[in-house]
Amino acid sequence: MDEFTARLACIIFVNAYLPFCHRKVALTIPLSNYSAAAENPILCDLNQEQLKAVTAPISNLLVLAGAGSGKTRVLVHRLAWLIDHYHVNPHEILAMTFTNKAAAEMKRRTAKLLNVSVKSMWIGTFHSMAYRLLRQHHREAGLPENFEILDADDQIRMVRRIIRQMELTEHTNDAREMAQYINRWKDDGLRPQDLENTIHARKRTPYQIYIKYQEICEKHGLVDFGDLLLRSHELWLNHKDILEQYRSRFRHILIDEFQDTNLIQYAWLTMVAGTQNRVMVVGDDDQSIYGWRGAQITNIRRFASEYPNVQTIKLEQNYRSTQVILNAANAVIKNNPSRLGKTLWTQADEGEKITGFKAANGFDEADFVAQTCEHLLETKGFSPNQVAVLYRNNSQSRIIEQIFNQRAMPFIIHGGTRFYDRLEVRNALAYMRLIQNPHANAAFERVVNVPSRGIGSRTLETIRTTATQNNISNWDAAKHTLENNLLPTRADRAVKTFVALIEKLSKQSQGKSLADVANVAVRASGLYKFHESESGELARMRTENLDELLIACAQFAIFDTDIEQEEVDSDSVLRDFLDRATLDAGDHRNDDNDAINLMTLHSAKGLEFPVVFVTGLEEDLFPHYLVKNDPDREEEERRLAYVGITRAMQRLYVTFADTRATSFQQRETKRTPSRYLREIPAQYLSWVGDNPYEKERPLSCDDLYVRSPIYLNNTAQYYGNSRITHKKLGPGRVLNTRGESDSKQVEIEFSDGSRKWFLASSPFLVQE
Ligand code: ATP
Ligand code: MG
Repeated sequence: MDEFTARLACIIFVNAYLPFCHRKVALTIPLSNYSAAAENPILCDLNQEQLKAVTAPISNLLVLAGAGSGKTRVLVHRLAWLIDHYHVNPHEILAMTFTNKAAAEMKRRTAKLLNVSVKSMWIGTFHSMAYRLLRQHHREAGLPENFEILDADDQIRMVRRIIRQMELTEHTNDAREMAQYINRWKDDGLRPQDLENTIHARKRTPYQIYIKYQEICEKHGLVDFGDLLLRSHELWLNHKDILEQYRSRFRHILIDEFQDTNLIQYAWLTMVAGTQNRVMVVGDDDQSIYGWRGAQITNIRRFASEYPNVQTIKLEQNYRSTQVILNAANAVIKNNPSRLGKTLWTQADEGEKITGFKAANGFDEADFVAQTCEHLLETKGFSPNQVAVLYRNNSQSRIIEQIFNQRAMPFIIHGGTRFYDRLEVRNALAYMRLIQNPHANAAFERVVNVPSRGIGSRTLETIRTTATQNNISNWDAAKHTLENNLLPTRADRAVKTFVALIEKLSKQSQGKSLADVANVAVRASGLYKFHESESGELARMRTENLDELLIACAQFAIFDTDIEQEEVDSDSVLRDFLDRATLDAGDHRNDDNDAINLMTLHSAKGLEFPVVFVTGLEEDLFPHYLVKNDPDREEEERRLAYVGITRAMQRLYVTFADTRATSFQQRETKRTPSRYLREIPAQYLSWVGDNPYEKERPLSCDDLYVRSPIYLNNTAQYYGNSRITHKKLGPGRVLNTRGESDSKQVEIEFSDGSRKWFLASSPFLVQE
């Protein structure tokens, strides 16, 4: 029997028996060569379709399948099978995915399956591969040995300088927008010379900026993110010998999350694959969530039609989630009109119903998440790292972090930084700190040249030395250098500007509320404008976080209880807020293993957790207001909801707030539940407290006691309807309570009908 027939016989045999195959049951395969196959850990825990993909003859392969159906598992097992069965040299394998975390996981799982070192395999992200290539062939790529990577911030700054040099009006030629043009051209593989004859008159200016920008990059050996891929592509294009070297090396290429590749990544793949090498791609059209960054969902179709003899395998069994969770996910994604179409099924138990929670506001929502987590950890045996809390925007983590901190719950933020650790937030806090106390040295150093005002390291060094020699603060030292003309003219002017700015901000802030001081620090300092001018998504995120900080300041006044004295002066509120922010930033650091996972829905791609909370399910937040009225982006947003729901293995919680302050509507406004909630069939959902879809009716006294039963266990101090007086806001009655011990809060309705939440221990509250 030749090898091919033997293999075929084995596959048919294994496929036929697979439904009865359990890990520990050895199958007797009547072929000496393959007798070990069924016991082989590479093959045993796979269903028929998965096995077909893993053991397919060497060919181009497309695995198209829904969430949790084992795509990543198949890819890793295929990789191992290539080595173990086809005796492929690990050196000949190139495997790519989209995040470093996923790449590390891929390496770990391959090493475990094969018990070999994975060092000689190229497993990584597209960017890291391109970077590795350019480092190895910098000369041929036209780069100096020590070429530098230009991040998004650097890029925007450089574009702004060019706009000024070219004496263009900054107002009509926004640096951020110009950088976006450049990135898009690079993503599409276009250099200035490629655009020369075709450029539309409307794009003439960005094109000219692109020429200048590229000239500077070349001159100084700078490479931006788009350039990494484009340049390594060009390297291959212009150096056939190098391309040949990689083509003859990477005989087997495997790519996970293929639905999120963009044009240049596709071109890159096509180049290294050539006609000889075999490519396996796995993906899910329903999980394409990076269209806004140029990803082409159509690459899946292109691959199937452009690569020879592509064998397509579909996986339909989901192994991750309970039936209820999977049915809910299917029901949501079904509403997208332009799908390739597939429905997942599972043999798993029906599982618990999805829990829905309508929170009064963002704090209430975070409190519910925290309390539920505590309950699950204490009584259901889950460990913190089995839980994920997902949200649409980075800025949403701020309230969750605050409540988790108050309750000393361990958490880790993935793919992002804690709210008060974020660059833009720390910059704003530094300005607030200087307004409160100009002698704060760290704050001084942090923002003396942010936004850039021409104070370089030498000037700063002079200030520092003066401060040390005279035993004074940086602030006093700066003034001293001005008074004694210690600086060269330009530096002198720059320091003067900074000193004048801080003095102006302090004056503007005198006697003002915390929210007003924050507003001065964020806007009058030029910080908001500065971050706004960074490139696309980054700018949106940073300005949203600054808006969120302003909201935090406004809310701090409401929830604050740390200040003991009766009449609170604005200075002590400011100091108290800054101290708390510093504590929040520095406290409770946990490693991955014993911490609850907080992350955006985008960064949850490819991951799974026994318990998942999808929070902020409100119209305009999720779906995001920016995607509305754009059918393509609306579909992409629903795919993001699908990604979120399908991360859950056993328990799923979906929450929204009745009122929330968001970065685009800074006051607490009434919210509408997200369409995705409505799309989950009612039989899969069980609501804690209010069912938002029940007809609204006026609140009666009885409702006050049953509204949120989860919180009514802890009403030791306050009871519904009891009368209470707030020392500043006057008399009212208790509507509701929530939280426990230190973070226990009460909702009070005042005589004018307004309602507010306070910490129960607030010294302003007096019970009658
Ligand atoms: P996503 O679309 O979210 O990236 P995926 O299709 O890549 O998901 P995997 O992460 O590979 O799915 O698998 C989902 C879960 O199902 C994992 O926990 C995996 O170990 C498990 N799984 C996959 N196939 C099987 C199988 N045949 N038997 C048992 N468990 C399986
Ligand atoms: Mg996967």
